[in-house]
Amino acid sequence: MTNECVFCRIVAGRLPADKVFENDTVLAFRDINPVAPTHILLIPRQHITGPAALDETTAAVMADLLLAAKTVAAQEGIEATGYRLVLNQGMAAGQSVFHLHMHLIGGRKLHWPPG
Ligand code: 5GP
Ligand code: ZN
Repeated sequence: MTNECVFCRIVAGRLPADKVFENDTVLAFRDINPVAPTHILLIPRQHITGPAALDETTAAVMADLLLAAKTVAAQEGIEATGYRLVLNQGMAAGQSVFHLHMHLIGGRKLHWPPG
């Protein structure tokens, strides 16, 4: 955990968040600046800077995030209509928070390719 990391502060309960799911390894909360009716961020409790920082010892958190996303999509009632899971890595992708997070976006028609 790092003091400066905004998502670590949410994990530690030192910054409020609209939580929708949590278990031993994962926390999920609503994005502060939603781009769709459902826009949830799923994060590992462990501080990992992004997808490219995963290694053999931490890769299992991706399975935890995917399983949590499935549960949250059902909670949100969008499992039938569909949704998108997004990981942004680095500057060109627009990554702005350097704590691994998966966006779960849905509740409207999503366009492809993304912008
Ligand atoms: P990125 O661009 O890094 O993939 O996405 C970071 C996301 O985190 C953005 O969609 C942004 O709105 C969201 N975000 C940044 N700070 C906070 C915060 O303090 N609380 C919540 N709930 N979302 C945040
Ligand atoms: Zn962090």
